[in-house]
This record gives sequence, C-alpha cells and structure tokens, in this order.
Amino acid sequence: MTHRATAQRYVGRFAPSPTGPLHAGSLLAAVASWLDAAHQGGDWLLRIEDIDSARSRDQWRESFEPDLARFGLRPSREPVLQSQRLSIYEQAINQLCASNLLFRCACTRRELSAEGEPCCLRDCRKQDLDPRASALRVDLTSLAAMTTEDRSLGLISFDPAVHRDVVVRRRDGIISYQLAVVIDDALQGVTDVVRGADLLPSTAWQLALQQALGLPRVNYLHLPVITEADGSKLAKSRRAAPVSTSDVLPALIKTLRWLRQDLSSPETTQPDELLRRAALSWDPTRFAGLSAIAIED
Ligand SMILES: [Zn+2]
Repeated sequence: MTHRATAQRYVGRFAPSPTGPLHAGSLLAAVASWLDAAHQGGDWLLRIEDIDSARSRDQWRESFEPDLARFGLRPSREPVLQSQRLSIYEQAINQLCASNLLFRCACTRRELSAEGEPCCLRDCRKQDLDPRASALRVDLTSLAAMTTEDRSLGLISFDPAVHRDVVVRRRDGIISYQLAVVIDDALQGVTDVVRGADLLPSTAWQLALQQALGLPRVNYLHLPVITEADGSKLAKSRRAAPVSTSDVLPALIKTLRWLRQDLSSPETTQPDELLRRAALSWDPTRFAGLSAIAIED
C-alpha cells in the first residue's frame, strides 16, 4: 500500500502519443487525470510522448494543447516533449550500465510476439552481440518482488521470476516507452498517474525500473477502458475517431457519465464551470474495480 506523504504536493499528468487526434479514450484519461489533480489542489502536466519518431506526427504533436484547452483542460506548466529529452534517457541508461544491469538481446519482435513473451527468449546476455542489431535490456532478476495498490483495481505486483527483464533501448535505437515514462514521471515530480487500464500490464515493469534506478514510487489510478456495447474491444475505427472540439460540452458530459460521476448540479453551458463542479464532487470510488465501460450506443 502506498501512502501519500502529507507535505507532498499532488502532481498529475496526461501523456498522449501524437499518433492521432484526441479521441474518446484519451479524452477520458485527460479529464479524469485533470479532475483528480484539481480535486486535490494539485498541478496537472501535459507531456507529449513522441519518442517513436516514425509514428509521431507534427500535426498531432501541436494539436493536443489547443484541443485540450477547448475542453477547459489547461496544463499548469509548459508541455514537455519526450523527443527533446533524449540525452536525459541516455544518462539513465549509463546509470543502469554502471550498475551492471544491462545486456544486449537479439531476439526479434516476431519471435517475441510469437511467444507472447516480452522477455528475452534465449541466452542473449551470455553472448557478445552486435550493438547495431540488438536491443538493450535491463536484467531485473536481482530485484526483490514488489507490490503497489492501484486506487481502483487493487494489487499490482512485480515478480522478477516472471518479469525477468525489460527493453530500455529498442533494436532500432529508440528509447523504450517504459524507460521514458519512468524517468519523466520522476523528473517532473509526478506523484499520481491516472490512465487507462490498457496500460495496467506496463505498470509492473515501470515499478521495477523505478526500483532499479532508485526513483520514487508514484500512486496509480487505472481507469476503465471503453468497450463496445457487448463488452468486446472497441473497433479500431471508433477507437481512433477524433472527438469534436467545436461542441465540447456533450463529450465532457458523456465522459463524466462513463466515470459514474455526479451530474446532478444545475446545467451549465460552460466547460470550465462543468469541470469546476465535477472537480469538487470528484469521486474515483464510483468506478473502483471497474476495468471496462461499455458504450451506450
Ligand atoms: Zn534475447
């Protein structure tokens, strides 16, 4: 169980990847993380996770801040771009190297996905592999087992016997999502991560990397994922469909309804006013334990 230090100021964040526009699922994460921060009088940061340069687009990179502002969601500080922080991630890799935790892995993505296995499949660590044709992994087997309590979904555990290692730099040279997230959360002073339950499997690796790098723990609140009415995974066309930024109130109300929040206060036409009221009455226990919400239509 993690306990909030009383003197620690709440810092939350929303961290979209610029691979497409703001959609219903990302708006849900943006609204919930903003409300959680506002309810606790904390800061809310915007971080653009554009580390995968091949998939990131300027069009989306530049769209998040103005689009979120139309919904009344404004970050407390200047947004951060991961693509401008590569030297910081390299420093962390040097630290892991100095701790003798790194090894090269030549397992291909095809081999790994065929096994459903994100860990190294062979004895790559015992071989002298070509750095240009191998990924860099952190050996996590020396870490002790660890747990944390998600504020909605309960226990998250990291077992080094299961999660043996994790990629920090891919074969193509790109810094891994897991490493960048852990470093940025720590350096930005993030205390609370509010995000979709689709990222729950990443949390074990992030806990381990925090430990391997001696970084502070954060509190987690994983939000239900939106599904089709029959509970199946949301169709890709609907998942990626942009939210309208011209008529924002219906999307905000729908999002608050998905999060089971109190909508009984008098109607308003102002997004800022709606959010202010929703922040006052914000209650994540209303969706506690819920990993999915089926859309109504
Ligand atoms: Zn391997």
